Amino acid sequence: MRAIQILGPGRIEQVEIPAPVPSADQLLVAVRACGVCRTDLHLLDGEVAIPHPPIVPGHQIVATVVAAGERADADEPLAPGARVGIPWLGWTCGKCRYCRSGRENLCDLARFTGRDIDGGFAEFAVVDRRFCFALPDSYGDLEVAPLLCAGLIGYRALRLAGDGERLGLYGFGASAHIVAQLARAEGRSVYAFTRPGDTGTQEFARGLGAVWAGGSLEQPPAQLDCAIIFAAAGELIPAALSAVCKGGVVVCAGIHMSEIPAFSYDLLWGERVVRSVANLTRRDAEEFFDLAARQPIATSVSRYPLDGVAEALEDLRQGRFAGAAVIDVSGSK
Ligand SMILES: [Zn+2]
Ligand SMILES: [Zn+2]
Repeated sequence: MRAIQILGPGRIEQVEIPAPVPSADQLLVAVRACGVCRTDLHLLDGEVAIPHPPIVPGHQIVATVVAAGERADADEPLAPGARVGIPWLGWTCGKCRYCRSGRENLCDLARFTGRDIDGGFAEFAVVDRRFCFALPDSYGDLEVAPLLCAGLIGYRALRLAGDGERLGLYGFGASAHIVAQLARAEGRSVYAFTRPGDTGTQEFARGLGAVWAGGSLEQPPAQLDCAIIFAAAGELIPAALSAVCKGGVVVCAGIHMSEIPAFSYDLLWGERVVRSVANLTRRDAEEFFDLAARQPIATSVSRYPLDGVAEALEDLRQGRFAGAAVIDVSGSK
């Protein structure tokens, strides 16, 4: 099969490798589409380590089940022909204190799609059938792909930000453009922060209902109740803290951030909170896709062919598209 592999920092290549064979608990799937995430860029740049390279990245996989491993039973809901979604969380131990307390996202032994397990920038993949799920029929393959990480992590970040009315979103890309819609539907006001001078993205944010859009180091016209930082820039933590009111929550939604500059305790004082969001649980996925089935989410998608993964990642780095990039695997034969 054709696949894209990261071989080491800065090294990405298209290769021909044998299609994977499912083990007893796995499904073999044919990939239809796979979303591009900032984490893929961190993996390519070596900012997030790949334990055993080379690896096929891609963890927002929309696929068709081709065959099931031997432990699948007859009433398997994900039978051959079914459409499945495969997210970043690929396997957990199920036994540790995190797994047993509803926090499998923190499992020390967790394995992640596209980092520890070959991912979706390939024609075929294998997936543990307990870690994938059906997707709402109302979404097309390309449109639903960004929901699998940008949407899911965004949803978890929004829950952890609390229910404050004024929400700031720092970095208005794939995740923020979905979260803005969830927040608007909950009656919140969205304040969008972009790279300074990025008027195109600010316009995009206003089009999605943001009441204000500006540069990331600007002060919004009103104090925020909470903020989510999607951009990987550590200096946004003191910036967001200075924009939230007392008791405000700042959530860092990315897997990697540059060094956080020293800042005055005054910025944290007043019971302000800074916290990170790590990975997702299967429960997050159930809740979020249930919500997405009831409340339509419009994703803005830039389509790339399978041999365009490196280009899509570079465009993501340079901020060349609004919304999300998706690799159209089945459409690029
Ligand atoms: Zn565990
Ligand atoms: Zn991701």
